[in-house]
This record gives sequence, C-alpha cells and structure tokens, in this order.
Amino acid sequence: MPVNKPHLPGTLFVVAAPSGAGKSTLVNALLSKEDNIQLSVSYTTRAPRVGEIDGQSYHFTTVEDFLERQTKDEFIESAEVHGNYYGTSKAWINQALASGRDVLLEIDWQGAQQVRAHFPHMVGIFILPPSLMALQERLHKRGTDTEDVITRRLLAAGGEMAHAPEFEYVIINENLDSALRNLMHIVAAARLRFNQQFSRQPNLFYDLGIHAK
Ligand code: 5GP
Repeated sequence: MPVNKPHLPGTLFVVAAPSGAGKSTLVNALLSKEDNIQLSVSYTTRAPRVGEIDGQSYHFTTVEDFLERQTKDEFIESAEVHGNYYGTSKAWINQALASGRDVLLEIDWQGAQQVRAHFPHMVGIFILPPSLMALQERLHKRGTDTEDVITRRLLAAGGEMAHAPEFEYVIINENLDSALRNLMHIVAAARLRFNQQFSRQPNLFYDLGIHAK
C-alpha cells in the first residue's frame, strides 16, 4: 500500500542514469543551488573510491550488515548493481519528507521502480549522455575505475538506458549549465503541483475553500 497518502509535504526526486552520464556532477551542482533538497546517503557494500567519505558519499558497510538491515526491512529499496549491494534508508526518507524537506535519490532503475511502489507521486528524472561515444570518454576520463569495471559499466549502460521510458523527465547532459537549468526547472515545477502545494500549506487551502483531490 502506498505510504504517501495523504501526501507528505516534501517532494521526492529520483535521479537515474547510466554510469558516465554526469549524474553526480549535475546533482551536486543542484544541491549547491537549492537549500531545501537533501541527498539521501545510500548504504553500499562497494569499497570506497579515493576521496569518498563514509557517511557522506555512502554508508559503506559489509555484505553481512547489509543483508541484516534488509531482513529488518530498513530499506525502502535495495538492489544489486555492478556486483555490489545498494540500499536506501526507509526511516530517513519518511522523516525528511514528513518534515517538509525535499529528498533526492541517486539510484538505479531497479531502485526507482521499488520507490515508485511506495511513493507513486515521486518525480523520476533520467539523465542521458549526448552520445554513446561521450559516455565511453567520460568513463575513461574519470580514472577512478579499472578497465574491467569500465567495461562492465559500459555493458550495463544499455540495460540502464532501456528503462528511461519509466521516468517522467529526461535531461540530455551535453552541457552542465543547461542540464542544471533544466533540472532546476523540473524541481520548481514539481514543487508547484497541486498536491505538494496543498500538503505544504493546508491552512491556506482550507481558508480558500479548496479541498484535497
Ligand atoms: P556507484 O558505485 O558508481 O556510486 O553507483 C553505481 C550505481 O548504483 C549508480 O547507478 C547509482 O545510482 C546506483 N546506486 C547508488 N545508490 C543506490 C541505492 O541506494 N539504491 C540503488 N538501487 N541504486 C543505487
């Protein structure tokens, strides 16, 4: 049963993309401009990359701990991606949305499907590269993964992109500035949807004689 009835005041954004589409750069740029959006920090069994900080980039954990949390139903969604487990904290998201904060999840298509089952009004945004060539170049330039990992991620990219039609919005990330502008437009429009406005300021709507759908 959806847990988002009645609507929680926060808006939930789910951003997915194949590796190398520039999703993290774009999301970080958005977060530096928008005060009321918080990024959910996922749990993962993947090893930290250079520069990643536990508790900020991810909650890095063991397979054993991850599976225990899964058994305890702590994740709103979880998936195996590129051979590692990833999951999103259910309690954290519910609390953030209930307190009126907007939440952004940077997850894969499998996770997005599970989140939508709980929050049908989530806003799904898919980031695409401007070409396959650009995707390959970006993965190599990042320099944080081995050749094996890059090859695996390229193969997976096609599978991930096949799920783009399940998302409401698509951003083609050719240029960071214009992709960011588009993302900010989506955020602004999503916040203005009737249900979000109503749940954020119910008293105004009652005063005006307007009732929920
Ligand atoms: P990376 O290991 O490169 O940080 O992430 C690999 C993939 O896992 C990306 O597509 C990323 O969006 C996805 N991912 C990160 N966190 C989560 C999560 O909590 N749940 C799911 N389903 N996917 C995640």
